[in-house]
Amino acid sequence: AAKSAGRNRVRVFSPDLRSAVEQRVLVAAELREAIDTGQLVLHYQPVLHLPTGEVSGVEALVRWQHPTRGLLAPCDFIPLAEQYGIVVPLTRWVLGEAARQCVEWERAGLSLITGVNISAAHFGTGTLVADVLDALDEAGLAPERLLLELTETSVAEDPLRAAAQFAQLRIAGVEVSIDDFGSGFSSLSQLVSIPAGVLKMDRSLLAGTATRRSESAAAISAVVGLAAACGMRSLAEGVETADQLALVTELGCAYAQGYFIARPMTAEDVPGWLAAHRAARSGGRLRQLA
Ligand code: C2E
Ligand code: MG
Ligand code: MG
Ligand code: MG
Repeated sequence: AAKSAGRNRVRVFSPDLRSAVEQRVLVAAELREAIDTGQLVLHYQPVLHLPTGEVSGVEALVRWQHPTRGLLAPCDFIPLAEQYGIVVPLTRWVLGEAARQCVEWERAGLSLITGVNISAAHFGTGTLVADVLDALDEAGLAPERLLLELTETSVAEDPLRAAAQFAQLRIAGVEVSIDDFGSGFSSLSQLVSIPAGVLKMDRSLLAGTATRRSESAAAISAVVGLAAACGMRSLAEGVETADQLALVTELGCAYAQGYFIARPMTAEDVPGWLAAHRAARSGGRLRQLA
């Protein structure tokens, strides 16, 4: 369309484009209201600890139950929240709800570590540490039960500031993971300076396992080794097949997460899924013994 407009540059400010901007402003205003009126929901995706086969925790993933447009995925509104300064209140809600849910499960005898995604923008505000500690406090959740997920790019924006906040969180007992590792362009020297406990490999690293197996295995193996050398445990994201699960287990990943293990589910569905997982595992063990 831009090409066919030719020299007619004025088309850049066409009514269509203006309404697209207005649309975004409108949705941002709706999102602000959505946080206060309880339209956000968390789904949870189980994380498998590979050496034991047990579920070590879940990752909380936000969705927006929009009154007219249905259930919206984070990619439909997180960028907007970041652009319009709504991501801090949004994250406060996510932290509070995830912590509350984690305590509820704990009371029901399910001990899970809950992962919460933190936006890069949150670092700049300087309230991250306080927001995290407030959420733990209010819910009565032990800091060891929370895992914060930060992308490598968020760290790259202001490494010194990020490192200082990581250090404070670590002193408080909250563990941090590097999310989507391998999808950005952060330097390895930066990575080694981050006091994170878990390295989450981006699912793009697993995408080639079927077609370019030895190259993929080499890349995964290198990341596992790098993580270990930096004192981090590695987690493989986006495990979609039995073959990928076998591969990342063999290559020494500590954890795995992906559709092959479980899709993100409502909080309500978690206890039942855990029970079924446990039953399947002990069934498997009985068969092995027989
Ligand atoms: P992420 O933190 O890397 O989360 C993993 C995403 O991959 C989730 O998408 C999950 O549903 C999806 N996924 C899990 N297993 C598989 C698999 O086997 N195959 C494929 N193709 N995908 C898989 P989701 O829920 O749409 O979230 C997308 C991103 O949105 C997240 O990526 C995270 O960066 C962001 N996000 C989600 N919740 C929050 C939140 O509460 N706050 C912030 N700031 N960002 C969030
Ligand atoms: Mg994540
Ligand atoms: Mg991720
Ligand atoms: Mg990802």
